[in-house]
Amino acid sequence: KKPPARKGSMADVPQELLNKLQELEQMFTVSAETSRAVVKHFISELDKGLSKQGGNIPMIPGWVVEYPTGKESGDYLAIDLGGTNLRVVLIKLGGDRTFDTTQSKYKIPDGMRTTQNPDELFEFIADSLAAFLEEIYPEGVTKNLPLGFTFSYPASQDKINEGILQRWTKGFDIPGVEGHDVVQMLQKQLDKKKIPIDLVALINDTTGTLVASLYTDGETKMGVIFGTGVNGAYYDKVSDIPKLEGKLADDIPGSSVMAINCEYGSFDNEHSVLPRTKYDVQIDEESPRPGQQAFEKMTSGYYLGELLRLAVLDLQSQGLILKGQDMTKLQVPYVMDTSYPARIEEDPFENLEDTDSLLQKEFNIKTTVQERKLIRRLCEVIGIRAAELAVCGIAAICQKRGYETGHIAADGSVYKMYPGFPEKAAEGLRKIYGWKPAPMDQYPLQIVASEDGSGTGAAIIAALTEKRLAAGKS
Ligand code: BGC
Ligand code: MG
Repeated sequence: KKPPARKGSMADVPQELLNKLQELEQMFTVSAETSRAVVKHFISELDKGLSKQGGNIPMIPGWVVEYPTGKESGDYLAIDLGGTNLRVVLIKLGGDRTFDTTQSKYKIPDGMRTTQNPDELFEFIADSLAAFLEEIYPEGVTKNLPLGFTFSYPASQDKINEGILQRWTKGFDIPGVEGHDVVQMLQKQLDKKKIPIDLVALINDTTGTLVASLYTDGETKMGVIFGTGVNGAYYDKVSDIPKLEGKLADDIPGSSVMAINCEYGSFDNEHSVLPRTKYDVQIDEESPRPGQQAFEKMTSGYYLGELLRLAVLDLQSQGLILKGQDMTKLQVPYVMDTSYPARIEEDPFENLEDTDSLLQKEFNIKTTVQERKLIRRLCEVIGIRAAELAVCGIAAICQKRGYETGHIAADGSVYKMYPGFPEKAAEGLRKIYGWKPAPMDQYPLQIVASEDGSGTGAAIIAALTEKRLAAGKS
């Protein structure tokens, strides 16, 4: 979705507020110079992550050790554990770069994200799969179905059907899962409930996006997510991944590439280059995991509304806006999810009437037109900063791998729903590279909407894995 052209001028906003706004704009603006410095540091951090000692960025080998050919075929199940829903998909790969999907969504019950009993989560997934099979194959199935599990959290893998959760991100917080293999935890529930499914591959959403897009578009260089979280995946040369220590050469003969799930949301956890505002510092300090996911906390959908909320509260407490209003409702952490700044940026009315009723209805706050214009501008600068910083990860990978042209396949709620995000991201890359302004589909590196990675990508990877297993390779 494109944001409407900004109609309301700022001419009638009082000087005091304009000054404040300018200050905020400066705080949130990332210069091309800063972006380039971020990219430079990013590249060295990516390399560190691939080294034997490791670094801040996990750079997890995903054990997808070939490119899809487009000829993969067969029926596969895939699941994607997202923030709000569990998506279950049946994918029929056509073998000719085409596929068909059938899917259902199961709402993750309230409280499940932070339940104290990890079995509850895996039971819920198993039950949802059983319900899906019941729907699709009422007559039952004759042999076990292969399943690809898209698990969008950092999980270490020594093989493709393993995923040891390093740490929860994006507000999930269930004890007893970190340090454990989620593949085994799910398979245990499937077996216990006698559900005829074999979990053959665990994949990150970025790896799925990479592989699904490469299945249909040979120009794909990366898969990236701009969503509740932020991350990217790409193929690296096995010889350029020192921490593999030749492991692969023995286990999987003849393979020379490996998909890497970067987990670059943790870039700059040491806080050395990212231009953090006091709101970023506050978000980090008040989060359940201070010092983690530093890059993600400035760029992903989980935090955009929270940044806006903190800035609005700050301005109010300084007596600059919303004088004398009861802020109780807005004082609840994370009550403003990304849909708020998105809707405010999308408000088509000159005087932002949509924003007016939104803020009144949800937060019991009455605003003047000027206040709304200021809030709108705040949303814009927060959104632009998120996009322009987020693409530093893309530039870093491309520079590291020497990619000067090609497609970056992108998915995620922010990319798909946040007004003007694709344009903002393209502009971010343009600034880093110094390209002449042009329509964004003419830039050498182009961010394009991806194929469905958590369905199709998971299925293709499951198919590649089955083929390898059938050929007697591990
Ligand atoms: C997770 C990644 C994931 C990204 C996008 C991050 O919080 O750590 O595994 O790819 O979100 O979903
Ligand atoms: Mg997702």
